[in-house]
Amino acid sequence: MASIFTKIINGEIPCFKVAENDTFFAFLDINPLAKGHTLVVPKVEVDYIFDNDAATLSNIMIFSQKVAKAIEAVVPCERIGVAVLGLEVPHTHVHLVPINSIGDLDFRKPRVVLSKEEMAELADKIAAQL
Ligand code: AMP
Repeated sequence: MASIFTKIINGEIPCFKVAENDTFFAFLDINPLAKGHTLVVPKVEVDYIFDNDAATLSNIMIFSQKVAKAIEAVVPCERIGVAVLGLEVPHTHVHLVPINSIGDLDFRKPRVVLSKEEMAELADKIAAQL
């Protein structure tokens, strides 16, 4: 069965899209650790990041770099934290999270609640930087 992220990439489930190329897709995390929390996903569905081929594994970081720079331009922060967990969704994804301190990348902390309008505006602003 297709993962929820494959359904998002295929347009079957809505998302707040930030960027896309032939290989990767980026969209706002629906349950963000911080405003601007974005997921970068390869279009080919592979569960565990280290099971991807070498090109996908290296290129996901190059694509993530562009997205991270765009997030930084929109969301004031010390830097963009990078994390890969995959404990919830079995489809490789890189978390890009604006952070100011170590605790900002603690996935146990309460998530930020943003309205649909705020999420849409944020995604548009980040996309406009790309
Ligand atoms: P993990 O697999 O542990 O890296 O976590 C999966 C992440 O995907 C979580 O941060 C969720 O909030 C996020 N997520 C799950 N479903 C969606 C969705 N439909 N749209 C955007 N983000 C999602």
